[in-house]
Amino acid sequence: MIPRLDLQQQINPTYFSFLDSLASSGFRGDIERSYGSRLAMATDNSVYQCLPQAVVFPRSTQDLVVMLSLAGKDAYRDIRFAPRGGGTGTNGQSLNDNIVVDLSRHMHQLLKVDADGRKVRVQTGMVKDRLNQLVAPYKLFFSPDLSTSNRATIGGMINTDASGQGSLVYGKTSDHVLGVTAVLVDGSIIETGPVSGEALDAKLAEDSREGELYRCVHDSVTGHADEIERRFPKLNRFLTGYDLKHVYDKERHCLDLTRLLCGSEGSLAFITEAWLDLTPIPACRTLVNVKYDSFQSALRNAPLMVEAEALSVETVDSRVLNLAREDIVWHSVSDLIQDVPGKVMDGLNMVEYADQDPQAQQQKVSALCARLDGLIERGEAGVIGYQVCDDLASLNRIYGMRKKAVGLLGNTKGRKKPVAFVEDTAVPPEHLADYINEFRALLDEHGLQYGMFGHVDAGVLHVRPALDMTDPEQEVMLRKISDRVNALTAKYGGLMWGEHGKGYRSEYSPTFFGEILFTELRRIKSAFDPFNRLNPGKICTPLDSLEQLVSVDATKRGFFDRQIPVNVRDGFTQAMDCNGNGLCFDFDVRSPMCPSMKLTADRRHSPKGRAGLVREWLRQLSAQGFDPLAEEAAVMSRGSSVKSLVERVKSTWQKHRGEYDFSHEVKEAMDGCLACKACSSQCPIKVDVPTFRARFLQMYHQRYQRPPKDYLVSWVESYSPWMAKAPRLVNPLIKHKWVQAGARSVLGMVDMPLVSEPSLQTLLADSPAGQFDLVRLQGMNEEEKARTVLIVQDPFTSFYDAQVVYDLVRLATALGLNPVVLPFRPNGKPAHVKGFLRRFAAMAADSAQFLNQLARLNIPLVGVDPSLVLCYRDEYAKVLGQARGDFEVLLPQEWLLQVIDKLAQKPLAGEPWYLFAHCTEKTAKPATHQDWSRIFAHLGARLEPVSVGCCGMAGTYGHESQHVEGSKTLYGLSWQEPLARLPQQRCLATGFSCRSQVKRMEGQGIKHPVQALLSLLA
Ligand SMILES: Cc1cc2nc3c(=O)[nH]c(=O)nc-3n(C[C@H](O)[C@H](O)[C@H](O)COP(=O)(O)OP(=O)(O)OC[C@H]3O[C@@H](n4cnc5c(N)ncnc54)[C@H](O)[C@@H]3O)c2cc1C
Ligand code: SF4
Ligand code: SF4
Repeated sequence: MIPRLDLQQQINPTYFSFLDSLASSGFRGDIERSYGSRLAMATDNSVYQCLPQAVVFPRSTQDLVVMLSLAGKDAYRDIRFAPRGGGTGTNGQSLNDNIVVDLSRHMHQLLKVDADGRKVRVQTGMVKDRLNQLVAPYKLFFSPDLSTSNRATIGGMINTDASGQGSLVYGKTSDHVLGVTAVLVDGSIIETGPVSGEALDAKLAEDSREGELYRCVHDSVTGHADEIERRFPKLNRFLTGYDLKHVYDKERHCLDLTRLLCGSEGSLAFITEAWLDLTPIPACRTLVNVKYDSFQSALRNAPLMVEAEALSVETVDSRVLNLAREDIVWHSVSDLIQDVPGKVMDGLNMVEYADQDPQAQQQKVSALCARLDGLIERGEAGVIGYQVCDDLASLNRIYGMRKKAVGLLGNTKGRKKPVAFVEDTAVPPEHLADYINEFRALLDEHGLQYGMFGHVDAGVLHVRPALDMTDPEQEVMLRKISDRVNALTAKYGGLMWGEHGKGYRSEYSPTFFGEILFTELRRIKSAFDPFNRLNPGKICTPLDSLEQLVSVDATKRGFFDRQIPVNVRDGFTQAMDCNGNGLCFDFDVRSPMCPSMKLTADRRHSPKGRAGLVREWLRQLSAQGFDPLAEEAAVMSRGSSVKSLVERVKSTWQKHRGEYDFSHEVKEAMDGCLACKACSSQCPIKVDVPTFRARFLQMYHQRYQRPPKDYLVSWVESYSPWMAKAPRLVNPLIKHKWVQAGARSVLGMVDMPLVSEPSLQTLLADSPAGQFDLVRLQGMNEEEKARTVLIVQDPFTSFYDAQVVYDLVRLATALGLNPVVLPFRPNGKPAHVKGFLRRFAAMAADSAQFLNQLARLNIPLVGVDPSLVLCYRDEYAKVLGQARGDFEVLLPQEWLLQVIDKLAQKPLAGEPWYLFAHCTEKTAKPATHQDWSRIFAHLGARLEPVSVGCCGMAGTYGHESQHVEGSKTLYGLSWQEPLARLPQQRCLATGFSCRSQVKRMEGQGIKHPVQALLSLLA
C-alpha cells in the first residue's frame, strides 16, 4: 500500500501572512497556495525547476495595485513577485521562488477595437491566436508570430519581445506595441507611449515617480549613445534586456518607455493592458515548399529566396522532417510536401509570399519558380523539387507542422531528450551557413544528437541537443556547450538569445553588454524596482544590490527526476517525458486538446500539470523507499484481504478528518480528467494521461476507499445486459424521482441514461443477424465468409442506443452482406477508466481470446463506438502485450471503405450532412473526417466535418454530479453554437457519449453516420 506523503516545502511564514492579508484587502483574484498549484508553476519549457511560494491570479489592473500596495508595507518588504503568462518560456523566464502572478487565467479581455486606426487594446493575459481570431472579421491581425501562438500570451510576448516567422516584414512584438498600462512595484500605474518635444521636456522636469523614470532612462541613453551604437548588434532580432537603442529617438526628441518594457522579462513592471497595432491580412498568400538534398543546401540557398522578395523563409532539416513524418501532423501535410521520386529529401525551405495585389504576388512567385526550375534542370544548389500552395488552409497546415517541430524533437526514444538552452541563437543571415558548420562541429565533438530548423531569413537557428538531464555529467556538459555557443555567436556578431529571451542565461548579460552599458541597465532597474522585487535574478540587479543573477547552473528538473530510480522512470515514461512545451494549454475551444484545462484554466488540470504531479508523487514515494512498480505487480496478482480493508477504512477516516497526503492533490487533478485521450495523440511527446491516471487510481485506492460510483461505472458492463432485457420495468425506475435523488446523493450520479426500448434483442428477434452460431461460421466457405460481417457489441450502444446497432445491421444488409451480431463480451474500458486494472486485465484477456478466435475466421469484425474499438488497439496492447494476439476490430468507416467500392458511385446531390466526430477517434485516427466524407461522397452525399472540441460527456464523466456543471459548460463552449446553427436532423455524431450529451442538452438526439448512410441507400 502506498505510504502517506507529507507536505513538502512549507510556505515561508511572511508569505503566508501576506497571502492572508491579501485575501482580505479587496483582491478579487484567486490565491492558490497548495503544493500542487505551486508545482504547476515550477516549470516551463526549460530544463529548470523552481518552486514558487504561491500563485495568484489577478482579475484586473486594480488587483495588482492592491497586491503591490500591500507589499509596500514594512512587514512585507521581503515579498517578491514573478509575472507569468502562458509559461512557455524556454529558459525559465517566468520561474522564481516567490509569488508567481499569472495573468493568463482572468485577464484576457479584448477591451477596444479601433478598426479604422488598425489598433486594439487588450488585457495582456490574452493568447495571441485568440486575439487574431477576434480581429479576423476586421481583416486585421497581430502580425508578430511565434510557434506557441495558441498558448503564449500578449504579456509574455511583450516581455520577451517575441517574433518568429515573417519577422523581416512583420517585425517583432516591440514594433507593434503602441503603449502599455504598467503597474510599478509600489502599486502606481503608468501609461506609456511616445512622448516627444515639449511634452517630453515637461515629463523630464516632473517631480514625480514617473518623471524620475524618464530622467533616468533619458540620461542613460543620451549619455552613452556611442556605446549603445557600438554594442547593440545589427540584427533583425532584439536581445531581451532593456532596449537602450530604441527607447529614445534623438532626431525627434522622443522617448517611449514602451520600448524599454518590451523585452524586460517581467523585471521592471507588470504590464496589464496594451495598445497593439494591427496589420491588414494579406489578400493573397502563397507558399513555395522547396525541397533539397541536404540541410546545408537549404541553408545556402535561403539568401536567394530573400533576394526574391519572399516574406519569410523557414528551414527544417531531415531529422525534423522525419519526426514529422512519424507524427499525426504528417497526415495533414503529406500531399503538400510529397517525396521526389528517386531522390532523398533532407532539407526543406518554406518560402512565403504575401501581398494585397494578386498580380504582383503572381509575378514574384513565377519568378522564383522559374529560378528553381533552372536550378533543378542544371542539378544545382541541391534543389530537388518544389510544390506551391496558395489556399489558406494548406498554408496553415504547413505552418502547423512547422510550429509542432520543437515539440516533435522532444519525442525521441531513450533517456537523452532534446533540451532548450542554446536553441534560439541569431547571427547575421549571411554568416548563418558557416556559423552552423561550426555549431554542428561543436555538437558532434560532444557526440550529441540534434535536429535543426529556423527562420533562416533572419539568421535564427533552432537547435535542441539531446541530453539526459538526470545525469549530473550531462548537466556539466550543458554548461560547457552554453559557454562555447555564447562565444561562437559573439564571434559571428550574433546573439545567444535571438528569439526566446534570456531567463537563466542572464549571467551572460554583463559580458554581452559590457561594463558601461550593463551598469546603465542596473541603473534603470534601480529606478523601476529599487529592491529587486520583480522577477529577481533576471536581466540584471539594481545598482546597489549585492544579489546574484540567476545562472545556467541553477537547479534543474533533472535534479528532482534523478531522485526517482531508473526503473520507475522507465515504467512511467508517459509522465516523465513531458517537456513542458505547453501545447496542451491550447486555448482554442474547437481543438480537442485537453477539455479539462479549457474548463478550469487551471494548469494542474492539463496533461502537463498531471504529468508534473505524478513525477513529484513518484519522487516522494521513492524518497520513502517505496517501489510503485513492485506495488503495481503485487496489486495485479493479489486480491483484497481483510487486513488491507481495515487499513483502507482507517486511512479513509483520516482523510475525512483532513489529514494531508500529497496523493490527495494528485487525485484531485486526476479526477478532473475526462479520459478523452486527446493528449495521448495530440501532445508531441504523446504524454498519455489516461494510462498513468488509471495506474495512479489503482494504487491510490489500495490505501483509500473508493466512492460507490466507481463500482457503478466499472460494473456497467455486467448489469447493463440484464437491465436491457426489461426496459419497461427498468426505465420507469430510472426515471423515478426518488431513484434519481438517491443516485445523486448516494452514488453521485445524475441523468442516468435509459436503456433502449425496444432492446437490441427484440429488434433482432426475427433477424438472422441475431443468430450467432460459431460452428456455422467456422463451416462457411470463402465465398460465404466474404459476404459476412461480424458486429462487435459494446455496452453503451447495444444497451442504451440499440437502434444504431440495428441500423448498422440494416446497412450491412442493404449493402448485400450478411451481418451477424456477436454475443456481448465486456470490453473493460469503464473499469480501465476508473483504475480497476486487475479486473480490466481479466476482461481484456477474456475478450481478446474470444475475438482472436473469431479473427481466425477471416471475416471482418466491426465495432460501433470509437472509444471502445480503440481500446482494443491501445489499452489491450498495453495490458496484454503479446497475449493480445492480432485480432482487429474495425471502426465502421474503416470497414465501409473496404466494401463501398463494390457499389456504383452516385453523383453528388442534396443538402450536406455534418459530422461531429468523437475526440478519441479523430485524434487517434486523423483520417476520420476524410474517410467518412469519402464514403458519403460515394453514395452521392456531401459530408462536412465540424470543428468541435469535447462535448463534455466523455463516457460517464458528464453523469457524475461533481462534474455535471463542467460537462454542460464544455458543451456550451464548442458544440452548442454549431448545433444551433446547423439543421440538427443533418448533424451526425460517431460517439455514444456525444449523442447522449446532445440529447440531454437539446432534448433531442442526433444520428450516427451509419443511420444517414442507411437513409441514402433507402
Ligand atoms: C515549443 C516552443 C516554441 C517557441 N517558439 C517561439 C517563437 O517562435 N518565437 C518566440 O519569440 N518565442 C518562442 N518560444 C518562447 C515563448 O513561447 C515566448 O517567449 C513567449 O513570448 C512567452 O509567452 P508566455 O505567455 O508563455 O510568457 P511566460 O513564459 O509566462 O513569460 C515570459 C516572460 O514574460 C514575463 N511576463 C509575462 N507576462 C507578463 C506581464 N503581463 N507583465 C510583465 N511580465 C510578464 C515573465 O515574467 C517572463 O519573464 C517558444 C517556446 C516553446 C516552448
Ligand atoms: S503534456 Fe505534452 S503538450 Fe503538454 S506540456 Fe507536456 S509535452 Fe507539452
Ligand atoms: S485525457 Fe483528455 S482531459 Fe485528460 S489530460 Fe488528456 S486531454 Fe486532458
